[in-house]
Amino acid sequence: MTTQEKIHQLDDIASEINAFKGLEIARMCTRAVPGEGDPDAGLMFIGEAPGFNEDREGRPFVGQAGKLLEKTLMEVLGMKRSEVYITNIVKFRPPENRDPLPDEIEACRNWLDRQIEIIQPKIIATLGRFSMAKFIPDVSISRVHGQARFVNLKNENLPAGRRVIIFPMYHPAAALRSGTMMEQFIQDFNKLKSILGGSLETPAIETAAPPVKSAQTSLF
Ligand code: URA
Repeated sequence: MTTQEKIHQLDDIASEINAFKGLEIARMCTRAVPGEGDPDAGLMFIGEAPGFNEDREGRPFVGQAGKLLEKTLMEVLGMKRSEVYITNIVKFRPPENRDPLPDEIEACRNWLDRQIEIIQPKIIATLGRFSMAKFIPDVSISRVHGQARFVNLKNENLPAGRRVIIFPMYHPAAALRSGTMMEQFIQDFNKLKSILGGSLETPAIETAAPPVKSAQTSLF
């Protein structure tokens, strides 16, 4: 697919998200937040759901957590946010920033799966436990953060599956709340740098494809 075709398809997905009224959070939000960045990005970040600032701007990670993500991205990887792709598992702000509900994650799943297949990133860095659980169910983030692993992505649009490196990280909002988490967040970014640079080439752990449904239901 050419970059132009990717842009076109990502725009189509954004239009679907912006027009969607099938969830209460979609009807209540100020703006939907489809995601943004380089359509050819080798690195994709997936967060949880928009917060207050994202809801106002219609862009992901533009509040305090986003500032930390952007700063670390530049300081550790020397990359601008426009050089990666950034999105969330849920595209509409849950009220009071509550956790996303299973039906909200499921309603947004097809858009995210399609975004991943259009961009085809080499590495997906998940930010926080909800995003991690989409790919690596039934694990605790405190045990597996900073450990890259291959996951075979499989869904109705991708029946044959495709292998991608998943790199689970703490959510930057958690890093802002705790000094220990901040240290781990920065440390994990440095590991990500080694993987991107090829010095930590093969992820140590390989997992089977989590069936998408059970990946989500197992969370709750
Ligand atoms: N937190 C998220 O998970 N996503 C955003 O876009 C902003 C904050």
